[in-house]
Amino acid sequence: MNKNNCIIPNTHKRLNEVHMLIHQVANNYFNPEAFRVNLNAAIQAIRNLTFALQAEKNSIGSEFDEWYLSWQNKMKKDKIMKWLNDLRVTIVHMKDLESSSVAKVKVYTYEQVLVEHCAIPIDLPNNIILQFLIENQFINPISSKLEMIVEVERKWVENSFPETELVSVLNYCFKFLYDLVEDAHEKFGVSLNECSISDSLHECEFIDGRLKCIEDFNEARRTSFSAGDLSIRKVRTESMQINDTITKKAIKRYGIKTETKKMNEKVLPEDGLFQLIIEQSKAVLKKDKYHRSMAFIFDNAGSPQMIGLEINDKSTKYIIMHKLAQLVRDNKSRALITIFETWVSQDLVGYNKEESLENVEDKRECLSISLIKNDGSQKHVNIFFKRNLMNTITFEEITENAVIEANAFRPIMEVWGY
Ligand SMILES: [Zn+2]
Ligand SMILES: [Zn+2]
Repeated sequence: MNKNNCIIPNTHKRLNEVHMLIHQVANNYFNPEAFRVNLNAAIQAIRNLTFALQAEKNSIGSEFDEWYLSWQNKMKKDKIMKWLNDLRVTIVHMKDLESSSVAKVKVYTYEQVLVEHCAIPIDLPNNIILQFLIENQFINPISSKLEMIVEVERKWVENSFPETELVSVLNYCFKFLYDLVEDAHEKFGVSLNECSISDSLHECEFIDGRLKCIEDFNEARRTSFSAGDLSIRKVRTESMQINDTITKKAIKRYGIKTETKKMNEKVLPEDGLFQLIIEQSKAVLKKDKYHRSMAFIFDNAGSPQMIGLEINDKSTKYIIMHKLAQLVRDNKSRALITIFETWVSQDLVGYNKEESLENVEDKRECLSISLIKNDGSQKHVNIFFKRNLMNTITFEEITENAVIEANAFRPIMEVWGY
């Protein structure tokens, strides 16, 4: 790499500075004072980049002037870039931004109970939020028994642009400037990759026009906790690959019929796979003594997506079912198969009230396998089993058309308009 081969070194360095400052804004999200200081600095650094570019353009020549004019026009037409510049003017005049922290509070079981927007201090603890919701009768204290999920999304907004979260504004502007700097490099010098100035933080990776590193951080703005015990619920879903090696291993380990090979073929329709899964899951349970919860999502492209689910309690299951609904929506999926190892009780009253079955006397263990489709049809099969001494598994009856947990698939059926 050549030494100092950057055609616009001051501009390029300002770009790296903006990147670093956006990280600092994000890292201080829950510290109001530090957030404000870094936000001001980031907004000014964005402006400094354009100043640096104006100063450096003269050294390049008239071609550059023309190029820069087109970018200037683009910048003027861009609503967000323009708005950010207006903010900078405010800061330069030593006034504080009119930023405030707001929260979107969502309370749900399988059904949505409440969505409320309110202005709250960014660092307000979860238990105070819950207390607020109960005292103001947004939710009923009984919800704690139901282990409802309270999801709080906190965000900083500026009052002149209240729709948009501030870090995502900065993130948007960064991509705009990155494109500009990249274009200047391509047209008048060496490409960004070959430039002697590199980003000491890390290489920039973008997703949907936003810095990935900052988008990842966005997750931290959202917390979900159970109204039952106020503890944070994080759910993990894991995309699993079906391939030849895994198929072979499964056949060997579980002694499953060779039809399993069909799992790896693209053509197996959901009904066929449903039957196959019922057979296979019994074999897996017998051998492993447990079956992990899983979902198969069918969209129109090839074989189904297989997703491993981690369900610890009722509250996490609420989140999982909403997450699956989101996946179905995003992928425009036509069908879904789920496998849950679960407790079932004949006490249907308790069942319908969605009470936890931990303490119910007549609870029985079962594998609950469901197929639901976008034509509104649902099939549920419960495979009841017992654990014997020595932890061997004996299967009891298999119930076709099983009664399943009330409303569990409601979030997904809603996506399909039912
Ligand atoms: Zn450069
Ligand atoms: Zn980054």
